[in-house]
Amino acid sequence: MRKTKSGSLSLEGFTFNETWEEKRRRAERIVEVLMRTYPREKLLIGDPYRTLIHCIISQRMRDEVTYKVWERLFEKYGNIRGIANTPVEEMQRFLRENGVGLWKTKGEWIVNASRIILEKHGGKVPDDISELMKLPGIGRKCANIVLAYGFGRQAIPVDTHVNRISKRLGLAPPRVSPEKVEEYLAELIPYEKWIYVNHAMVDHGKSICNPIGPKCENCPLRELCPYAKRLVMDADLKGRR
Ligand code: SF4
Repeated sequence: MRKTKSGSLSLEGFTFNETWEEKRRRAERIVEVLMRTYPREKLLIGDPYRTLIHCIISQRMRDEVTYKVWERLFEKYGNIRGIANTPVEEMQRFLRENGVGLWKTKGEWIVNASRIILEKHGGKVPDDISELMKLPGIGRKCANIVLAYGFGRQAIPVDTHVNRISKRLGLAPPRVSPEKVEEYLAELIPYEKWIYVNHAMVDHGKSICNPIGPKCENCPLRELCPYAKRLVMDADLKGRR
């Protein structure tokens, strides 16, 4: 059992005869291959507020639709003040007319989070994970996305791609929650490389390590991957995704 800041981590169920040190060395090699395969000269270090609004809209939405709505929203309402001053019902109508699912809830979250940032944080998005998670609509994944992509901090947002690929690669046990996956990755991957993990695994999940029918024969990670060696099976991964 390994003690971490947030709890204890066990190798049970995904050792593959590796010690923590061996697993850590394999994790480092995985991240190096991913960074080479999916280079990004400059990681998106954007505006934390716009990143936060993007994350709220994106929940259970396709990327292309999210991006279009997000652009239209800022064209129409301008900035945080414009959005905070918009009646919730109007924001809900805007989202519904633009094909956003869960428009009712998301409309409330967008307006109320903006009001809280203005009133409680002087118009600046907090750069602290626990403060971010107090905002409406912001769970741990979105908070980490804001830290990584909005502020350019070292953080590991665990979305559906990161969750699935980490488990196939044996970097986390097969049936743990995304929060626990984040803990395992934080333990195994060097801190200065955390920021690459999400963008590289998302690209990898869309191109090669697809949710159904991963293309292991074309994958640059196959020598490092227990799933490709049939040590992790799809049936093992059912459950917390
Ligand atoms: S070898 Fe297969 S399962 Fe493993 S990372 Fe590559 S595509 Fe995914």
